[in-house]
Amino acid sequence: MALLEARSLIRDFRVGPAWLEAIRGMPGPTMRAVDGVSLDLQAGETLGLVGESGCGKTTLGHLILGLLRPTSGTVVFQGSDITNAPRQRRRELRRAMQIIFQDPYSSLDPRQRVADIIREPLDIHHIGSRRDRNRRVDEVMMQVALQPRHKHLYPHELSGGMRQRVGIATALTLDPKVIVADEPTSALDTSVQAEILNLLSDLQGQTKMAYIFISHNLDVVRHISHRVAVMYLGKIVESGSTEQVYSNPQHPYTRALLSATLTPDPARAQEPMRLPGEVPSSLAPPAGCPFHPRCWLAQDVCKQIPPPLLEYQPAHFAACHVTASEHKINAVARVKDDATNRHSS
Ligand code: SF4
Repeated sequence: MALLEARSLIRDFRVGPAWLEAIRGMPGPTMRAVDGVSLDLQAGETLGLVGESGCGKTTLGHLILGLLRPTSGTVVFQGSDITNAPRQRRRELRRAMQIIFQDPYSSLDPRQRVADIIREPLDIHHIGSRRDRNRRVDEVMMQVALQPRHKHLYPHELSGGMRQRVGIATALTLDPKVIVADEPTSALDTSVQAEILNLLSDLQGQTKMAYIFISHNLDVVRHISHRVAVMYLGKIVESGSTEQVYSNPQHPYTRALLSATLTPDPARAQEPMRLPGEVPSSLAPPAGCPFHPRCWLAQDVCKQIPPPLLEYQPAHFAACHVTASEHKINAVARVKDDATNRHSS
């Protein structure tokens, strides 16, 4: 059984002020930030979630953590549906599912000292005596290689890397099972990024925590992830093991993203592909395949019928009509079959 499962998650956001809707007497336009995403997460693994900014990665992370409610779809944690969990259950889940933010500076209270910041989750949940909590602060500070002298400092007295260590220590205090790390290294220098990635890997080895690692940087994701899911305009367009996705990408968008990454093998280095245009607005997504306005392989079918996510190797999925026809799969027939089955059930 997976530690965490998301099934067909959709999240729409209303666009425009509520008063205008009230005057008009009808709902305003909506923007679909997450569009039918399903994923699994096993204990002790890291799932990298990649894509350009605005593709829905962060919203998906917040849906999984229960920080946002989905418009539809379910989240199952340790076998129980937590999608619409009552308040008390959500509070318990906060202990098991934590987040690490992109910008450690803005996520830390500038008026609190390091020890108080790290202890705060224990205080909020009334865990142990004051002495127990302080002991736990010492433990997690040691785990993230913060020195005892850092306890009494304020965030502004720390470097970016040290601040991120405080963010990680704070997430660790409650001994979580899942951590959503949202671009945790993108505000850091390259050398510090490597230290933080190594730290996260080491902590996972010690605790068997699972990570959902959100990043636009495919080099970083390759370094830390066991599996990868590529998002475009709210959908997962490819997923598989890191090896499968990086060495044998099946979706044109993944290929374009990978062309801009570093490769240790000069023979495989290639010119970065330049995708034409911008990511389309989620307010008016293209019909058919959402990638078709930018895809150099697009055909007529791509403009009309959304490609289904199909499995090309064990646990390696992609959503592309051309990939399907290369594998001699009739993706259009699959879409029609699925629609028929939905209507008849
Ligand atoms: Fe490109 Fe068509 Fe594949 Fe979409 S379905 S990625 S438009 S080839």
